[in-house]
Amino acid sequence: MTTTPGTASATSVEDEFPRAITLLDTARTVSVLCHVQPDADTIGSGLALAIVLQRRGVAVEVSFGSPDDLPESMNELPGRDLLVPAADVRVGVDLVVSVDAGSRGRLGALADRMDAADASLVIDHHRSNTRFGTLNVVDDAAESTTAVIARLFDAWGVEIDASIAHCLFAGLVTDTGSFRWVRPGSHRLAERLLETGIDGAAIARKLLDTHPFGWLPMLGSVLGSARLVGDAVGGLGLVYAAILRSDSEGLRSEEIESVIDIVRTTSEAEVAAVLKQQPGDEWTVSLRSKTVVDVSVVATTLGGGGHRNAAGFTAHGSKDDVVAALIDALG
Ligand code: 5GP
Ligand code: MN
Repeated sequence: MTTTPGTASATSVEDEFPRAITLLDTARTVSVLCHVQPDADTIGSGLALAIVLQRRGVAVEVSFGSPDDLPESMNELPGRDLLVPAADVRVGVDLVVSVDAGSRGRLGALADRMDAADASLVIDHHRSNTRFGTLNVVDDAAESTTAVIARLFDAWGVEIDASIAHCLFAGLVTDTGSFRWVRPGSHRLAERLLETGIDGAAIARKLLDTHPFGWLPMLGSVLGSARLVGDAVGGLGLVYAAILRSDSEGLRSEEIESVIDIVRTTSEAEVAAVLKQQPGDEWTVSLRSKTVVDVSVVATTLGGGGHRNAAGFTAHGSKDDVVAALIDALG
């Protein structure tokens, strides 16, 4: 997702490309790590990179720390045969590449693989990125990590064919909210990818616009219990909803993750939050802001991270405790 459209990073990320390419060119064994609760940007980035490496004769695998299975909406992405279960990710490869993870913790159970490799490369676009690799290619002005990967491929001389384009488009269409949060160049990249012959409409429908019928009653229940706190965020307003485990039984992560996109449209609130109940007393929380509030700062305060207008964190306690802590952090 874009931060301020058109602003350049303090140091150009392109300056890091030659060293990243040297690492990728010399490694014979590579593990590509995606973030936990993977989205299409991390998986699309990981698979695109792995397809390229495999074609170059590199022994490459892709994985994510949790959950066990790839979200169903991503099960047609090219290169998915390169995915391995987290427990099978080799220890001590030449190079580990982390894609779309803002911090080490976002790799979950695979974080230890970063230390065991000869070198680690972080490729990302999160404002809150902690630069946890031995080399960090981080552009917080980029709309998606797949957009950073596309520029890396250009610098590397990689030809983007339909398989690679499919993976890159998946991250681009989802992280730009179907091309709503774009910057100069976003549509140019989309055009290039579509020119390879991929079916952009089918990819978007599968990733973003396909839900089982049970999604509708879940929305009814969750949205019906949404709350507006007008005096939160210094009077700019907070709207929030909670998805209890009983609401989401039998539904996929795709249904759960869709809720924030509805809640955040509330005109009376600058900030939107969706609390997603996990086993035990754990909640994962999605935050979105419209304009002036930097939710990545708020999320970082609460132990998470993200982008200026989209961030998240994990919390423990009762729902009311989590809401109270959030309201407090929002000021
Ligand atoms: P979402 O609400 O879609 O899960 O996440 C929004 C953004 O915040 C994503 O870019 C995601 O990577 C980031 N994010 C969500 N949860 C966390 C977290 O617990 N830690 C960090 N560092 N980033 C998070
Ligand atoms: Mn992303």
